[in-house]
Amino acid sequence: MLWQRARAAGIPLGRLAILRRPLTAARIGGAWNRSTGDIWVLQSDDPAETLRRLLHELAHAERQSPRPATIDEDWNEEAATEHRARDLAQRWDVGAIFDGLPLSRSLAQIETLRERHHLAADLAATREPFQARAAYDAICNLAHSRGWGEATLEAALYDADEDDVVNAAIVDFSRAGLRASWRVGHGIGGSFGPLACQQDTRSGTTLRAALHQAGALNVDWLSRRLVISTDAPRRLSLLLTLSEAAELPAVLSAAQALLLAHPDQSLLATWRCYGEATESVHTYQLSISVDQETTHLWVLLRPRRPRDRIVEAALQRFLLTWAEVTAIRNESFAEGLLTLWAQHG
Ligand SMILES: [Zn+2]
Repeated sequence: MLWQRARAAGIPLGRLAILRRPLTAARIGGAWNRSTGDIWVLQSDDPAETLRRLLHELAHAERQSPRPATIDEDWNEEAATEHRARDLAQRWDVGAIFDGLPLSRSLAQIETLRERHHLAADLAATREPFQARAAYDAICNLAHSRGWGEATLEAALYDADEDDVVNAAIVDFSRAGLRASWRVGHGIGGSFGPLACQQDTRSGTTLRAALHQAGALNVDWLSRRLVISTDAPRRLSLLLTLSEAAELPAVLSAAQALLLAHPDQSLLATWRCYGEATESVHTYQLSISVDQETTHLWVLLRPRRPRDRIVEAALQRFLLTWAEVTAIRNESFAEGLLTLWAQHG
């Protein structure tokens, strides 16, 4: 009935689906597709809640707002949409579905989510609203899998849980959702073999601090790549050193810039680490391929002091957050040198 009224009111609509399970992994009650006008709504046990979700999506469809450019624009739009959903309910004589749910409470929920998406974006070292939503969703999945309640999740987001293990563990959410499409031709996951570092609260704390700084870095890593070969597919390369914690943000920022580049294409990514457990110098290689080019990020890891070894544990911890969509391989140092030589020779 609401659907017919919306159509009659001239709101451009595609098809409607009321689902028993969500259409995406994200923890949302529904969605409106900007290009097709299709709407799906997750069915609730409470029929009034199902209608509220539908009205919210219809309000999005009516507003036709452009894609948000910032996290605040995203949540300003959610607040305005919630206002509009109430107006439409009144106009279409279903105002009663909001009984007991004052607008102020819905808006307070939206403000909580706005704040949490900013915090999730810090942890994901991004300001992109789509990526902030994906990061927050992955953080909720992590909280669920660890059995964290609402209060623990909230505290961990603010780095304020009384248990530092929790504050450190929140960095481990999967980054797979930060881009829409991956290719996984070389398989996914793997291990660092004998180079695998022990993970503890310190590595989590180090990674958390570095991610925060990486998000504030403003470096155009793509333009810093060296062109190694212009034959199709083009080959490019970026070399960085990592000898102490202060250099970790740049490495994370560069790796993430490559992993999230060309957002409209499918991307194939593999991590390789080269070295012997008995030596302290290790090399990490991130290989990224899209249709027309392959980029290799080389990180020469050479800890300055014994305490700088924590940096490698933090780097590995970051790599593991991409393991759902990228492969991780361990090879000998000689193999690494040969590969580096062959690529640049
Ligand atoms: Zn919405």
